[in-house]
Amino acid sequence: MYLYKGNLAEFDVIIIGASFAGLSVASKLKGNILLIDKCNIGDCQISACGAPVDVVKEIGCEDSVLQVSNIFSFHVNKKRVDFHLERPYCTFDFKKFCQIFASKTNAIFIKANVVKVEKNDKFIIHTNDREFNSKILVDASGWEASAVKSLKTDYVHSDMLSFGIETEAPYMATAFHFFYEPDFLKDGISWIFPCAEFSRFGVASYTGTRKLKEKLDSFLERYSLRNGKIHGGSFCYCFKEPFVEDIFVVGCAQGQTLPLTGEGIRRSIFYGMRLGAIIQRILDNEISFEKGVNEYTRLALNCSREYNFLFKLQNRFLKMSENKLELLARILSNRLIFRILERKYRSI
Ligand SMILES: Cc1cc2nc3c(=O)[nH]c(=O)nc-3n(C[C@H](O)[C@H](O)[C@H](O)COP(=O)(O)OP(=O)(O)OC[C@H]3O[C@@H](n4cnc5c(N)ncnc54)[C@H](O)[C@@H]3O)c2cc1C
Repeated sequence: MYLYKGNLAEFDVIIIGASFAGLSVASKLKGNILLIDKCNIGDCQISACGAPVDVVKEIGCEDSVLQVSNIFSFHVNKKRVDFHLERPYCTFDFKKFCQIFASKTNAIFIKANVVKVEKNDKFIIHTNDREFNSKILVDASGWEASAVKSLKTDYVHSDMLSFGIETEAPYMATAFHFFYEPDFLKDGISWIFPCAEFSRFGVASYTGTRKLKEKLDSFLERYSLRNGKIHGGSFCYCFKEPFVEDIFVVGCAQGQTLPLTGEGIRRSIFYGMRLGAIIQRILDNEISFEKGVNEYTRLALNCSREYNFLFKLQNRFLKMSENKLELLARILSNRLIFRILERKYRSI
């Protein structure tokens, strides 16, 4: 990973967004690649950074892991139901994760805000710093889909966004805790993710309610804790076209964060790496651009059925009584049933 210094403004591939999806695409590309992000690598964390340990290990970022657990505790109706995972999850240090991942790529990095994209025979990417050109453009800029939005203004569905905020506090836990308490938070959940010496406390609204600071304060007060630095953001639960205006779209920009669970890191990495490999084959003239587009489109839309199912479950979940949810959770937490569910879920 090099910082951008020279005058070279023409690249084979430009990737907008240097988080999970963008870094994954870059990790599979050789040659003349530019990675642009408005933040320095790892500086703009939005996520609780909980992901399957095997995924983090596979990309060689295990040194960023903070804590591992194979228990998801679901709190509902003032009861706790434990789900035992076959494949454990971990929390990791976002900055360290991104820096390790970035060091494994050959891309040139520039910190700049992409303000506009134009298209003629090449893409012209306008940033607050200067302009860049490329033949291939990847939008990995998260829910805002900054590149595509510039050419197709209705690409982002702002009415289909979830929103969450989070802070870190000195509290030690052994499991990943999820709380569904409609009296406290009508349309969302809160969580505690263990990170060794501290935990991440968060609240999120499925329907995108942004006034969550007071909720986070009172959630922390239960444990006699106070807010530290807050991070967070939106994610889109609207699955969209993966190739638009000749731009490849990946990660949260395409809506790859799963409804209901809000899990997006695993999927951004999976699709990012697959897209990177496809683009490299295009650059190597192994396949035509059209074939690459078809391959990626098929792949990215492959699980739209499962996605829609989770979307329906998300809506159901918000309408269910706490009694019913507790009963359902108890049934599903049966180790045999949950093993089947976990395997099915991990196949998405
Ligand atoms: C509060 C919260 C907690 C979450 N917790 C989890 C979790 O524990 N586990 C999990 O799997 N998922 C979690 N998610 C979802 C997860 O964060 C997303 O799925 C994931 O971040 C998507 O990765 P991405 O690379 O597609 O986009 P992002 O991580 O959003 O990255 C987009 C990047 O593009 C850059 N960018 C945007 N616009 C521009 C521009 N105009 N110019 C230059 N750069 C730009 C941004 O700075 C950013 O670095 C959570 C989401 C939220 C909101």
